[in-house]
Amino acid sequence: MKKVLAILSLYVPQSWLSTTYIVERISILADDPHTCEHEWDVVAGILSTMELQVQCRKCAAYSEVPNPSKEEWGSCAGAMENPYPWEDKSRIRYYQIDDTIH
Ligand SMILES: [Zn+2]
Repeated sequence: MKKVLAILSLYVPQSWLSTTYIVERISILADDPHTCEHEWDVVAGILSTMELQVQCRKCAAYSEVPNPSKEEWGSCAGAMENPYPWEDKSRIRYYQIDDTIH
């Protein structure tokens, strides 16, 4: 049945369009913060709480890394100008709830 639909779609330009549209929608969904497999960049240090602020480079969600080591805290000084990757996802405190970035 899938094969028949695929062949049919060759002759019906509109279903090509909608297929492209669906593929586009899926790629948009991939950047939804709820489904995104985040890749974090350190973007700042939060002085008041001594946490690192990280941002996902794919969906732009923000989160924080509590309790950075002295070295980690020291190296975030230039993060605002030069964000750098944060690999340890287990330490990310992901705090985006619903569609609101807190
Ligand atoms: Zn993300």
